[in-house]
Amino acid sequence: MALRVEHDIFLVRQRGREVAAAVGLEHQDQVRIATALSEVARDLLHAVGGADVTFAVTAADDGRQHLRVDLAPVGPLPRERYDPRSGAVARLVDRLDMVVGERDTVVRMSRRVPVNAQALTPERLAELRTALGENAPGSALDELTAQNQQLIAALDEVRSQRDELAVLNEELAETNRGVMALYNQLTEELEETNRGVVALYGELDEKSAQLRAASESKSRFLANVSHELRAPVTAIIGLGRLLADSSSDPLTAEQARQVGLIRSSAADLLGLVNELLDLAKAESGRIEPDWAEVDLRPVFGQLRGTLRALATRPEVELVVEEPPAPAVLRTDEVLLAQVLRNLLHNGLKFTERGEVRLRAERRGDRWQLTVSDTGPGIPAELHERIFEEFYQVPGKTRVGGTGLGLPYARRLVTLLGGSLDLASEPGRGSTFTVSLPVDGA
Ligand code: ADP
Repeated sequence: MALRVEHDIFLVRQRGREVAAAVGLEHQDQVRIATALSEVARDLLHAVGGADVTFAVTAADDGRQHLRVDLAPVGPLPRERYDPRSGAVARLVDRLDMVVGERDTVVRMSRRVPVNAQALTPERLAELRTALGENAPGSALDELTAQNQQLIAALDEVRSQRDELAVLNEELAETNRGVMALYNQLTEELEETNRGVVALYGELDEKSAQLRAASESKSRFLANVSHELRAPVTAIIGLGRLLADSSSDPLTAEQARQVGLIRSSAADLLGLVNELLDLAKAESGRIEPDWAEVDLRPVFGQLRGTLRALATRPEVELVVEEPPAPAVLRTDEVLLAQVLRNLLHNGLKFTERGEVRLRAERRGDRWQLTVSDTGPGIPAELHERIFEEFYQVPGKTRVGGTGLGLPYARRLVTLLGGSLDLASEPGRGSTFTVSLPVDGA
């Protein structure tokens, strides 16, 4: 097409739109390319007095077909004054270039043909060419009408987009309100839970204070009662001794037997009272270990000596093994000896034949002192119960005693920073293990 006078701008625009539609560009793209074309056409008309406009379909590097429009100016283009590449027009098409041609610089624009458009074979192009040739160009008024319609369509689209945006905004606001409500609800629930937890902690603190107070008053009561009982019981023992004394008035055989019973009962009672007092002292924290480096060998030696007197059954052997040297640990010698004596005493008390054995073994940073016997053994379900105050296993092993020895022993071991555990089965003897840290608590 030749662009020479003002009216040609309309024709070029119209043709541009028709060609764009013919090769399959979408409506929006048709308007874009027509608009870009009329803008460039007007510029060239004013700058150099016109141009020759050529439409072509080319294949680009990406293998896709492009609609290409070349506008070759009729005169030399003052390049420094005219460069459409940076303006808004350039955004309407895929490419807008200044191509240096044979005669002069050509303005070239192109737009990609959509993939779903009808294939542009040479035959199809010939067809289009004929059809467009038959189509007589309309008047400026026609093009104005078309342009108006396009403008209305564009405005409509803008309006519908604005409406859509308003709907989206409303939805967004709605969602925001929902999220805020959810957030508030969660915050409230969290606060509620927090208040609950705080209250629960308060209650727990109160309960444990009550428990502590109850345990303290129990220990105090035990300590007071046993302390108060000690004097009268000691007096009874003393009086009994006096009555049985040879320098007193002689007693009948029956009286002597009864006084003997009174004395032995009083002695039992004193034992019980003393044990209670020990336990109460240990529980109320009134026993302070006297920490020192203790050699286990003399301790074991002493136990061997003092307990031999208790091992009265010929069928039971008391074995106190020699601890492996060096056998030193940081502990309270008196308390430790008390615990071991207690355990060995139990072993000798309940074992009818076999042996009672004490041995020491170093395991890492702990000493394990075991007292094992070949006695009746203790059922697994009672392993913890025998460490409760006054508990004694029903049956044969309920002879004498108070049921206070083991709880006291465990208290002492805990005070020394260790643990006291039992491994036992009925008929297979018992093994009590005192495990103590080498460097004390
Ligand atoms: P006591 O020996 O004065 O009864 P303890 O607290 O020392 O109290 O022991 C509690 C109970 O555990 C004993 O009455 C006995 O039934 C059981 N017991 C303790 N040591 C042994 C043992 N070596 N073999 C079997 N039973 C034992």
